[in-house]
Amino acid sequence: MTSNDRCLFCRIAKGEIAARKVYEDDDVLAFHDINPQAPTHVIVIPRKHIPTLDDLDPNEATIVGTVITKLAQIARDLRLPSDGYRVVCNNGEAAGQTVFHIHFHLLGGRSFGWPPG
Ligand code: 5GP
Ligand code: ZN
Repeated sequence: MTSNDRCLFCRIAKGEIAARKVYEDDDVLAFHDINPQAPTHVIVIPRKHIPTLDDLDPNEATIVGTVITKLAQIARDLRLPSDGYRVVCNNGEAAGQTVFHIHFHLLGGRSFGWPPG
C-alpha cells in the first residue's frame, strides 16, 4: 500500500486537497499546517502511506531518515536553525496523533517549553 484513498495526507500528496506546499520531491512532501502552533509550523511526510511508526518495516527504515534529512534542509531554508526548532511526531492516539499517516511537525519561530504537554 503506497497510497490510501481515505487518508487526508495521501489526498494532499496527490493534490486532491489543497495545501500550502513548501517542498516536494518523489519521496517527501512538506506543507504548512492548517492550524499552526508556532509562527512556522510545517508538516513533513513521506509520500508513502504508513499509518504509524509501529507500521514501519525494517526495510523501510531509510524512509524516515530521508524525511528527517529533508526536514532539516527545510528548516535551514526557512532560516530556523539559529534560534532552534522543535520536531514532533505524535505516534498513536494517546500521543495526540489525529492523522494516521506518519508525519513530523517542524515548529519554529518561538521558544518551546519542556516537558511537552
Ligand atoms: P497530528 O495531530 O496527527 O500529530 O497532526 C495532524 C496535523 O494535521 C494537525 O496539526 C492539524 O492541524 C493538521 N491538519 C489537519 N487537517 C489538515 C488539512 O486539511 N490541511 C493541513 N495543511 N493540515 C491539516
Ligand atoms: Zn496516507
